[in-house]
Amino acid sequence: MHDFDFLQPASVTEASHMLADLGDQARVMAGGTALMLALRQRMVSPTHVVSVANIRSMRGLTFDPGRGLRIGALVKHSEVARSELVRVHYPVLAAMAAQVANPQVRNQGTLGGNLCYADPSTDPPGCLLAHGAQVVVASTRGERVLSIDEFLVDFYATALAPDELVIEIRVPLLSADASGQYTRFLRTAAEHRPLASVALMTRRNGRHCHEARIVVGASVSVPRRLTRAEAFLAGKTVTTQVAADAADIVAAEISAISDARGSEEFRRDMVRVISRRTIADVFGLATA
Ligand SMILES: Cc1cc2nc3c(=O)[nH]c(=O)nc-3n(C[C@H](O)[C@H](O)[C@H](O)COP(=O)(O)OP(=O)(O)OC[C@H]3O[C@@H](n4cnc5c(N)ncnc54)[C@H](O)[C@@H]3O)c2cc1C
Repeated sequence: MHDFDFLQPASVTEASHMLADLGDQARVMAGGTALMLALRQRMVSPTHVVSVANIRSMRGLTFDPGRGLRIGALVKHSEVARSELVRVHYPVLAAMAAQVANPQVRNQGTLGGNLCYADPSTDPPGCLLAHGAQVVVASTRGERVLSIDEFLVDFYATALAPDELVIEIRVPLLSADASGQYTRFLRTAAEHRPLASVALMTRRNGRHCHEARIVVGASVSVPRRLTRAEAFLAGKTVTTQVAADAADIVAAEISAISDARGSEEFRRDMVRVISRRTIADVFGLATA
């Protein structure tokens, strides 16, 4: 790893000024779990690392019954998983966070850092998109609020300008009839990162589906809602056959990636399997 200056701004404005002044020579660091690997492997060689870890306004997790959940960008995966507020009001989000990586990464990695790295093999983006979450970004020029799909542009690419920081993630209130599930598939038990994932959030009455939001992650370059599968489920009474048909639509609707961890065909098959099981679980059906 080459030498760099380590800067520790105390506010978002100060950090944004630094980033604007230093341009391409600077990299933001939060928990450092992704950035330190990139530095060690010389994938990036900044002259300055701007640590945002001391910016208090980017910490904390609050729930307002009128507005929903606000998660500071510096909140760690383990805090999301353990938070009583998240567990009570957003159990699918809490369950997802508890499965990220391993205890070391969950205790060090932040939710903001996870989104900013935009690595496709991660858990929070798809789950947050299924919850209709938004990302708040800030710079000396003010704040912008983006939906997750506006924020995540592509494989390792976000809508962040060079002088902007993610400061907060907002998750809207869920309706009383909301329920869902997040399912991840690992290729081997020794792997931490998902090969495929499905996040399903529904509004339902028993097995009758009023509304569904389905997002596939990890097997696609960037998670997106699968609107054909969502439209297929909406208004239906979900049976085992409906769940299987919806899973076929999900598998056909994605543009699966192909890499050393899994071919496009294998990923599509796994997405089909976990989609069918997830839909069946959410609607209380037995699965095979
Ligand atoms: C061994 C291992 C296994 C993993 N397994 C999983 C897994 O199973 N599931 C999963 O979801 N993830 C997994 N991850 C990824 C992990 O979740 C992320 O590395 C972590 O959340 C990143 O957060 P961080 O605070 O450490 O980010 P950092 O490493 O500090 O930063 C990551 C990137 O985001 C930028 N950045 C960070 N914060 C901000 C901000 N607030 N504003 C603007 N830019 C910012 C940095 O410049 C950098 O480019 C794994 C990582 C490792 C190392």
